[in-house]
Amino acid sequence: MAVLESVDPITQEKIGESLVSTEPEIERAVAQARKAFFVWSQVSPAERACFIIKARDYLRDNREEIAVLISRESGKPQFEALVSEIAVAIDIMTYYSRRACEFLARARVPLHSLVMSLSKKAYIAYEPVGVVGIITPWNYPLSNAMSPVICALLAGNTVVYKPSEATPIVGRKIVEILRAGGLPENVLQVIIGAGDVGAALLTMPIDQVHFTGSAATGRTVAEAAAKKMIPYTLELGGSDPMIVFEDANLERAANAAFWGRFANAGQTCAAVKRVFVEESVADRFVGALKERAQSLKRSGSSIERELGALINEKQFLLIKRQLEDSIRGGAQVVAGGLALKDSRGHFFEPTILVTDRDDICAMKEETFGPVLAVRAFKTEDEAVRLANNTDYGLSASIFTKNKERALALARRLQAGSVSINDAMAVFSTPELPFGGVKSSGIGFSHGGADGLRHFTRRKGILADRWGSKAELYWYPYGEKKYRLFSKLIGWLYDTLDFLN
Ligand code: ADP
Repeated sequence: MAVLESVDPITQEKIGESLVSTEPEIERAVAQARKAFFVWSQVSPAERACFIIKARDYLRDNREEIAVLISRESGKPQFEALVSEIAVAIDIMTYYSRRACEFLARARVPLHSLVMSLSKKAYIAYEPVGVVGIITPWNYPLSNAMSPVICALLAGNTVVYKPSEATPIVGRKIVEILRAGGLPENVLQVIIGAGDVGAALLTMPIDQVHFTGSAATGRTVAEAAAKKMIPYTLELGGSDPMIVFEDANLERAANAAFWGRFANAGQTCAAVKRVFVEESVADRFVGALKERAQSLKRSGSSIERELGALINEKQFLLIKRQLEDSIRGGAQVVAGGLALKDSRGHFFEPTILVTDRDDICAMKEETFGPVLAVRAFKTEDEAVRLANNTDYGLSASIFTKNKERALALARRLQAGSVSINDAMAVFSTPELPFGGVKSSGIGFSHGGADGLRHFTRRKGILADRWGSKAELYWYPYGEKKYRLFSKLIGWLYDTLDFLN
């Protein structure tokens, strides 16, 4: 295996234990956020958007320096830090800042019923919820956090944010970026520490929680939120399938599967983890993957490298165990398979497994590292069954030249999003909801107007138009009125039903 080089990584020791937030500090942060909420919630969406746009400009102007920081702390290639994190965050900030006024404006709602539309006016108002707790993971420390943070802020909430204990420096940087945009004090605060700090935050008087991380921790977060009766969103793991039909552009499909699996060293919730390829082209497809595995640049400067380090030893040992289990279960290693641990980090060769079983680890479990499982299928029904045969349902991709077939198939896949002739592109499309079904989560992190509105309380407002003395259905009741209403209901939902 070629020697893998990484720029001097930032280690946890350099961060220092003393930065971990204590319970009184978390309590104080939430209390300060509550105070700040009274002011921030009164700031107009247009003004809030100005802060976010200024912060975006700071991120844009300092992108290379911040890319180095992300790369050093997470081990990912600098190119991925720049493109998959910084560019994505800049775009989401731009999209929502430009549309915050429109998405948060009180909306007039047309009433469907003739009687109601003649007598009432209806509105929906979007009001901030209060203090939002946001807990995020280490795999995309900037973009995974920036999206919910800025949506919650633009919606008028204050935020107490806990980054992963594996990437606290980028976590603090996010607050610095937003402060550079002039964000007032205590509107966004960061607390530092591991799971116990996240758990402590959930015991505090917060009004909503957004969590991105593993399914196991997501369940704990949901339980804590249910106890407090507060809304929550969970964006969890995935074991995303890709289905490749024989009529697909195989070159593009192989490139997509390869990048979709090995980018970020495979540590992406929406990575391509299982490929199902039509039998007639399976050998060609696997051959194309093998070629790419050999040419992936593992060494050179952080800008040159194409394969990053795994985040830590825990992940390294986990992926090693999953690979060994899969091989014991009969999977054939057609590329990679080697793991390397040295003073600069934990690395894993891009590994491709071919199998005809669905009970091996690489098919059953979420693999959060550079291991891709490939299996051949004969019929479309078989491909759908195999693709859906997982507890997860984050995203999926389909490769075929037949667009109609792809759109019909997309409906049959149990996934929060589907890419056609593409991979891992939905998260960076802010117009689309990004979230999962089954064990991949509840709700979504962004996606058009709902991305901002799910950090609000929707208030229904109904106003009478004419100011008559009383409505017909108010007191007094009586036999005559009863008969009249019975007739009216009959007319309205029978003879006049075409008006509804
Ligand atoms: P990982 O083990 O890969 O870091 P997790 O889902 O455990 O995945 O972590 C995602 C985020 O959740 C991190 O910020 C982590 O510190 C936090 N976390 C872990 N356990 C808890 C918990 N019990 N309550 C709240 N947050 C937690």
